[in-house]
Amino acid sequence: MTQEIAEKVYAEIAAADRIVISRHIRPDGDAVGSSMGLRAIIKAPIPEKEVLYVGGDKADYLAFFENEDEMPDDEFCSSALLIILDSGTLDRVSNEKIGLFKRIVKLDHHIDDNPFGDLSVVEEFRTSTCELIVDLCVKLGGKLKMTAEAAEYLYIGMVTDSGRFRFNGTTGETLRYAAMLLDYGFNTERIFANLYLDSFENLSFRSRMFGHIKQTENGVAYIFVSKEIRESENITLEQASQTVMLLDSIKNDLIWLAFIETDDGEIRVRLRSRFVGIKDLASRYGGGGHENASGATCRSLEEVDSLINDADAILADFKKNNTGWL
Ligand code: AMP
Repeated sequence: MTQEIAEKVYAEIAAADRIVISRHIRPDGDAVGSSMGLRAIIKAPIPEKEVLYVGGDKADYLAFFENEDEMPDDEFCSSALLIILDSGTLDRVSNEKIGLFKRIVKLDHHIDDNPFGDLSVVEEFRTSTCELIVDLCVKLGGKLKMTAEAAEYLYIGMVTDSGRFRFNGTTGETLRYAAMLLDYGFNTERIFANLYLDSFENLSFRSRMFGHIKQTENGVAYIFVSKEIRESENITLEQASQTVMLLDSIKNDLIWLAFIETDDGEIRVRLRSRFVGIKDLASRYGGGGHENASGATCRSLEEVDSLINDADAILADFKKNNTGWL
């Protein structure tokens, strides 16, 4: 971001005696990491400033570092600045008091289809909101202060949202900022152990789920985790949602979809792809996101079939007109 924009963000922070930081629902490493990191770098130079991180719903795999504050009362909120991180839309913000706040600042890297906030800084080219927060800190010199603790949180978000620095948006600056964070010294082995290690029960569950993977003619891999499967496996919605990762390394399958039936009968769709975009497809089914990682909702099994067929047609067209994919 430019120096001018960084100063504008700082002016909002400096003007507010009370700040609440919130992120999107169904958190990922970037949502939690950017929130925890920003709280730490604001408080480091001004410890007396009231800066709260109000998280909300949880993801088990992030519990090793998430540490949120209690939701403050209405009086606090109505006099506070709300900084919303990593959420492209207002309806995905995990804060039920969102309407009370005095001012809202949005800092994000998702495509900005629904702008909001009194000040909004959206950098779609960044692989993570954490990267944007590091950039903000660098541009502001000593006004915000990086610490070893903050560096670890921000590194976790950068690592997870960039697919361990594999995704296309990873730039020289991404790696330079990650390197700068590493220089603060934290235990990367502990981070990766927390991100990768899994229980024996969950590995057994995954092995059973592999049996549910199907493919279309043109290479769309998909899995449908019904309510019935969730109940018989005794798994949470979050665990069911993780099945999308089982589909990501199949040669030829450039689009992969996980359908998760929720308790109220709606079907959450997680769409992923390589080389070919699926954001427009997601928006046809009430969702959106990034070109290679989106979410949507289906309201019936017919809609599920229709989405799979649409994905297959997109892939057929892509493969006909492109070479070089695996
Ligand atoms: P998920 O599969 O939930 O990890 O979502 C992948 C990406 O799509 C995330 O960056 C979300 O911001 C975005 N996304 C997920 N669901 C929706 C939705 N219903 N509407 C818009 N964007 C979404």
